[in-house]
Amino acid sequence: MSRLRPHGENHFVDRIGWLRAAVLGANDGIISTASLIVGVAAAATTQGEVLIAAIAGLVAGAMSMAAGEYVSVSSQSDTERADLARERKELSASPESELDELGAIYAARGVEPALARQVAEQLMAKDALTAHARDELGISEITTARPVQAALTSAATFSTGAAMPLLMVVVSPAGALVPIVSAASLAFLAVLGAIGARAGGSNVLRATIRVTFWGALAMALTAGIGKLFGTVV
Ligand SMILES: [Zn+2]
Repeated sequence: MSRLRPHGENHFVDRIGWLRAAVLGANDGIISTASLIVGVAAAATTQGEVLIAAIAGLVAGAMSMAAGEYVSVSSQSDTERADLARERKELSASPESELDELGAIYAARGVEPALARQVAEQLMAKDALTAHARDELGISEITTARPVQAALTSAATFSTGAAMPLLMVVVSPAGALVPIVSAASLAFLAVLGAIGARAGGSNVLRATIRVTFWGALAMALTAGIGKLFGTVV
């Protein structure tokens, strides 16, 4: 029995959110940068050129992650805000049919109709908007989504991941660049996969195999393309 194991049940869903995002960001950084390095190196360019391609890949990837995350989080919070505004309007315009609606939702979940109506009445008496947001719209708390924070976080996790294969380019001798970057990157991916799985309470071996498989596939593919075209991918 590990002394780190807390008493009682473990619930992973709370911490899996940010950890999953961080591990995925770093995975992306490792896989895309390592693939880029292997692809460029397979085209038999100099170590300096490989390094420039890797740095450009890091910056481009981090910016693309940040932009993607910003847009996605912003549009999600726009949608939630619009939904809530519409719901608020409906609640003040037709409270009676909103009560019917909420009661029907609980009844559909198996609550006896009279009781379902009673539950709906009591919940709406306390906080009608929250009750409708949760059970009708599926918004569990009025989220204050922070697009900028999300963007910076994913850029940072991607860059951290991308820095690992990039450092390998710096330290490895020119002749052994491809095998060293590939092997080290797969090892980084395996460790990250294991950490993520362990923290999330899922199967460590399966997660590790999954992530290293996709990493190896990505690198093999870009190496093949780099060799084929003999030029920057
Ligand atoms: Zn409603």
